[in-house]
Amino acid sequence: MSRSPFPPDYPGEYPKIVTSLPGPKASEVIGRDARIVSQNLTKDVPLVVSRARGMVVEDVDGNRFLDFAAGISTVSTGHCHPEVVKAVQEQAEKLIHICYTDFFYPIYIDLCEELAKIAPIKGNRRVFLTNSGSEAVETAVKLARVRTGRQKIVGFFGAFHGRTYGAMTLTASKPVQRKGYGPFVPEVLHTHYAYCYRCPVNRQPESCKVECLDLLTDSYFHHSVDPSEVAAVIVEPVQGEGGFIPPHRDFLPRLQDLCRKNGILLIADEVQCGMGRTGRMFALEHYGIDPDMIILAKGIASGMPLSAVIAREDVMKWNDGGHGSTFGGNPVSCASALATLRLLQGGLIENAGKVGSYLIGRLGGLQKKHAAMGDVRGLGLMVGIEVVDGRAGRRPAPQSRHKVIEKAFGLGLLTLPCGESTIRLSPPLIAREADVDKAVAILDAAFAAAG
Ligand SMILES: *Cc1c(COP(=O)(O)O)cnc(C)c1O
Repeated sequence: MSRSPFPPDYPGEYPKIVTSLPGPKASEVIGRDARIVSQNLTKDVPLVVSRARGMVVEDVDGNRFLDFAAGISTVSTGHCHPEVVKAVQEQAEKLIHICYTDFFYPIYIDLCEELAKIAPIKGNRRVFLTNSGSEAVETAVKLARVRTGRQKIVGFFGAFHGRTYGAMTLTASKPVQRKGYGPFVPEVLHTHYAYCYRCPVNRQPESCKVECLDLLTDSYFHHSVDPSEVAAVIVEPVQGEGGFIPPHRDFLPRLQDLCRKNGILLIADEVQCGMGRTGRMFALEHYGIDPDMIILAKGIASGMPLSAVIAREDVMKWNDGGHGSTFGGNPVSCASALATLRLLQGGLIENAGKVGSYLIGRLGGLQKKHAAMGDVRGLGLMVGIEVVDGRAGRRPAPQSRHKVIEKAFGLGLLTLPCGESTIRLSPPLIAREADVDKAVAILDAAFAAAG
């Protein structure tokens, strides 16, 4: 593809704040929400969106924000990319829904062929399409159990896999995501992730031999769990919700060896870190592993609901009719995903790597100025700033983190929190160095103002 994957420049200045926040129209909408919408969806900032294009989100009062959140890493090609919009419109005129559980349609197969082609899994692959990250996680776990005849599933502390019962049981990111919702799905256990800034076993990264995995081998497998009863290990190649944490470089290879030795399936949850965000199509490519299954969602269709499970052919064998999905692989979502893949492969993945390195470099400079910027880490455009109480070493500082996000919002930059005290920066993959410069200037001011 020789056409540029970048959308046309935004026609106007951004960011640009023209009212107090929330503005009068936004306040009115928030008032209506308070009267009718379930009030459990807590938001860090009072943003009421009317439209968005490229890197820019416009609110109902005409304020323009630079978007470094991308709908939780979802709007991978930027908001309403003209090629994505065109693909969606054309498909919506032809066929919106028919249900692949009952009938065939070609675009479902087109997308499966593309995903199978790019997936870094050795051997032939098969694909199953679903609607959300959670549904894909449920699908992968059901497949792992039925395929292996084993029941136990291993996940990691800090992991986020979704909100439905199986996915929530595997999630161990924040207690509030589980509190009160038990009992959970049986036979799930959690072990340590290689979170080097806060090493769970107090090693130095340089001399570490990934001893965090010893909890699994030396404790569980030695004392309470026979590995022959473990169906699968599910792991985020870079933890997302848990704090934007790329693991120690030997962690995933060692985990894979452990799985192979014990006949355990390795499931890579690439829902947040996949689809080009880290500068490679799949984050696991940075670590050279060959998993049995890959789960995709978030960035796969530029914001249209779609997710996928890709598995080695001999793994994706299960009971006929036992699993299905009414909306899974919706034709309009498939069209959006195919357009997204073309743009990612047409230069946006490369851009994520380049602009991501630039962002990490610029933040490294800023870190020297602000003691509260405890750790700057990431791959490509998946970058976290862990906010700490600078005077007390590495103590997490969630209050300061909130202040920085709020101040940045006031200056026109959208960011999101993750982990206990990390700011997540995950702009669309069309971000340019000039966007990074604007974002870094705002973060500089926000850290200064937050003290
Ligand atoms: C967001 C997320 C999920 C869940 O996706 P939903 O679409 O919200 O169900 C699963 N895994 C990871 C890694 C995620 O970031």
